[in-house]
Order: sequence, then structure tokens, then C-alpha cells
Amino acid sequence: MQILNLNLENPGNPVEYIFQLPADKRPTEPDPKFQEEIFQPYYEQSKRISPLRPSSIPIRGIVIHATAGGNAHGAASVITAGVASYQFLIAAEDERDPNLREKILATTPESRIAQSIRDDKSHPEVLKGTRNLDTHSLSIEIVNRQDGLDPFSEGQLEQTARLIRHLWFKYEDLEIVYSHAAVDPLRRTDPGAHFPWARLENMIINGIPSDEPEIEEQYDDPFHDMLISQAEHEPLPPLPLSSHFKTTSAMPTITALEPDTHPAPQISTPMIS
Ligand SMILES: [Zn+2]
Repeated sequence: MQILNLNLENPGNPVEYIFQLPADKRPTEPDPKFQEEIFQPYYEQSKRISPLRPSSIPIRGIVIHATAGGNAHGAASVITAGVASYQFLIAAEDERDPNLREKILATTPESRIAQSIRDDKSHPEVLKGTRNLDTHSLSIEIVNRQDGLDPFSEGQLEQTARLIRHLWFKYEDLEIVYSHAAVDPLRRTDPGAHFPWARLENMIINGIPSDEPEIEEQYDDPFHDMLISQAEHEPLPPLPLSSHFKTTSAMPTITALEPDTHPAPQISTPMIS
């Protein structure tokens, strides 16, 4: 697996991690590589503290968190304890359980309101300063020790981007991605100064680079034909992310989602009757 550089010389400021999702870049087709798995018992337990979202309230934001622990079960223990919840967990690249590594785990139904941001927190650039942000957002937690030394893996970054593109395709009102630190800067720093925020934005808006087919026509030089004929006779070197894709393709099939997990996109109706 690939590990991202920590970029220690040029850390970001997580308080500034906010970007808009331009409507003209919204994915128009589902991603065949997208795969999530229900993470039990947390998914079921989350319902005790995560009330149903009224169907009249559209999902407009995605909030990114990073845990202060090193593995998926530890991160999800806050749900069991009843102190917090979030819809998705991106497991670490070094999970003890190899079946969990870099997986997209559903930890709370999307139809429910997560408990991941304090109700009174807001930011003027995030949904016009609205409060109760969990009510209008889906919440993604990424497993990372948050000690300044534990790097996010390339696979975690790609899975986070893939998940958000999937949600963007699914929820047409989705318009913004922001960090927990941006809306609660005095108490929170997640996902941290070493999270590759600019790369995440680029992957979500412009697509995941490893998904792009190579376009031969762009190599317009006399050596191109020679290279192609050589390539036809020699096996190509493995792609940098091949080990990750092997892991992905070996994943077990997804557990059937419960009916209220993925409601069909609905036309918003005014709340006031
Ligand atoms: Zn957080």
C-alpha cells in the first residue's frame, strides 16, 4: 500500500478546510468501483442516539473528521458508548483485521442525523452560517491517530473521494465539504494539518486519477509507435495502486442495506405547513 507523504514542511490549516461542490461537475453516473459495508453492531447501535432526519430536510453538506485512535473498532466505540455517531468510517490501511483495511464502513444510516458536531457550531461560509449542521450534513470519520506522525494512506484518500462522489451523485442538493475544525476551531483540529485537503478536493471535483483511461493520442511523437509495439510484447509494470485494488476486489459482498438506509432522492417540500 502507498503511504502519503506527511508534508511536514508545508502543513495545511484545518480551520480553512472548506470547498464548494460546483453543480456542473456533479457525477452523472454511478461509480462501479464504489463499495460500502455495513459495520455492525455499530450501525444498529447508532439509531439509539441518531434521530431520523425529516424527509423535508435535504442533505447539503459533508463534514470530514479524523479519529484520535488507530483502528476502526476503536473509532466506532463512541457509537457503542452513545457519545457520538457518524454515517461513514474510512478504515485504516493497517487495521489488524485485514478485511477492514481502507474500507468504506457504514456506521449510521444516512436517513438519520449523526451526532458529530455540537449544535451551536457554525461557519459563515458553511451553509450560510446555519447551526445544527449534522441535521443538514452527512458525517465521515477517517481512522488516523492524529498525532502528526500517522500518515493517511493513498487508499484512504481515494476511498474518501469515492464515497463523496457517490454521495454527490445521490444527493443533488449536496453543495459543500468542510472539516470539523472549520466549524469548531477552538475545540477541534481534525482531520489535521497533514490531511491532503487540496488533493481530496481535486479528486472529488475532477475524478479519481486511477479511474481515468490513458489516452494514447496525446503522445504525438515518432517514438510513440515504437513504445506501443514494445508494450504489446512486454508485460506492463504494475500500477502503483495495484495492491490496493487487489484488496478491494477481494472484498466480500456488501451486506444488504436496510430499507431506510438509502432513501430515493426526494423533492424538497417546505417545512412550514
Ligand atoms: Zn471531529
